[in-house]
Amino acid sequence: MSHSAPVPETLDDDALVSAYAPLVVDQDTAPFYRGWLARELRVTRCADCGHRFLPPRPGCPACWSRDVGAEAVSGSGTIHLCMLLHQGPPAPGVDYGAGPYPVVTVELAEQAGLRFTSTVVGTPPEELAVGQAVTLDWIERNGVPHPVFRRTSGSGA
Ligand SMILES: [Zn+2]
Repeated sequence: MSHSAPVPETLDDDALVSAYAPLVVDQDTAPFYRGWLARELRVTRCADCGHRFLPPRPGCPACWSRDVGAEAVSGSGTIHLCMLLHQGPPAPGVDYGAGPYPVVTVELAEQAGLRFTSTVVGTPPEELAVGQAVTLDWIERNGVPHPVFRRTSGSGA
């Protein structure tokens, strides 16, 4: 994808909140979105039991530990759920008139059940299917990086 505009990887909290609005940037999610600025997809990982989870929360849902922190994942995974939106509320970067807009939930390679939802670029929506391998890629909206997926080249189907 285009890496044209250099993106400041260090924005202050107010700038981070503005850059990713209407997504909710708060104390719990700021490390997650700061990862986006650095083009890293981060999950929260528990230091006590090793469980990874999304969305970011201040405590581990598996063992209730509060010793958790952000950790980057590879972004490799498989399509777990695929929806093609033909209409919907106005959203940045979404043009329903150009055809269905794919929304996929990807099961990330690092852990069973660890999933992240975004869109897929580079493949006609009608060719997407559950089970296809994807990797992380980045697009820019509002001048800041947003994570998307791209089908892994060479993956069949
Ligand atoms: Zn835990």
